[in-house]
Amino acid sequence: MHLIEPHEPRLLAIDDSELIHRLLKARLKHEHIEIHSACSGLQGLEIARTLMPDVILLDIDMPGIDGFEVLRRLRAEPALHDIPVIFISSQSNTMDKVRGLDLGAHDFVTKPFDLTELKARVRSALRVRQLIRMLAQRAQLDGLTGLWNHAYFTQRLEEEIANSQRHETSLSLIMCDLDRFKNINDEFGHPFGDHVLEMFSQLLADGRVGDIPCRYGGEEFTLILPQTTIEEAGQVADRLREKVKSLVWEGHPELTLTASFGVTDLYRAGAPTIEAVVAAADQALYAAKQDGRDRVRLAEPKGPPMKLTA
Ligand SMILES: [Mg+2]
Repeated sequence: MHLIEPHEPRLLAIDDSELIHRLLKARLKHEHIEIHSACSGLQGLEIARTLMPDVILLDIDMPGIDGFEVLRRLRAEPALHDIPVIFISSQSNTMDKVRGLDLGAHDFVTKPFDLTELKARVRSALRVRQLIRMLAQRAQLDGLTGLWNHAYFTQRLEEEIANSQRHETSLSLIMCDLDRFKNINDEFGHPFGDHVLEMFSQLLADGRVGDIPCRYGGEEFTLILPQTTIEEAGQVADRLREKVKSLVWEGHPELTLTASFGVTDLYRAGAPTIEAVVAAADQALYAAKQDGRDRVRLAEPKGPPMKLTA
């Protein structure tokens, strides 16, 4: 699981002076930062929405909407809210600085730029951005296993259903449950139970790149498999089933643990909704348990086949 986005940090400079853009590009060219330019407040906001920059350099004095208003609008949009903003001010006007900081500016640079200072302030803003991003991601992780948590699962499944519909690609979901987990906790204690959950999570996390492993709750886990048919997902589930079974448990060499798996794809879910997909996988998981556990069951198709052409 990659928690930090791989792209080079993106800086957006919003300033009505062409000269400033040329200067920034020349002075920051060895910094491994992608530099983007906007020449007005409105253009800057528009670019920020699609670019999602990691730091914004923002001029205060601009025709049209000024830097203060741009900052106010950035702070009002949830997606742009956390991007650190460094104000560019022409002279060290204390009132401007106070007003900017009150509005939530991260920092200031004063024209003309001191190169070393400018770089240091940009680096500091990027560190803050990185920390905010790590905190946001940590809030979506399960504390014990390090997998994505239930809240993230729901949000991501919704996105992947939409992607699958938009691009007409397949999408599958595996729901799995450790067999007789309650007995493990009762017999060997909760610390060992937690260890089992961690080991199982590790198997899920070490799977194919692009699959999304989540802890659904308790000893239930889900794996979202974008661009994967139900047959392929069934094979992924069966490999996991074999791996769980072959784990050797330290201190308990006699112990064999198993897991059951329910698999569906969007088509067999019958409707492109989170509820339908989860229900289909859950029913298949229930069937696997009923059949004697330690097995994989695929969801049954719902109703007549969907017509792809009129
Ligand atoms: Mg200006």
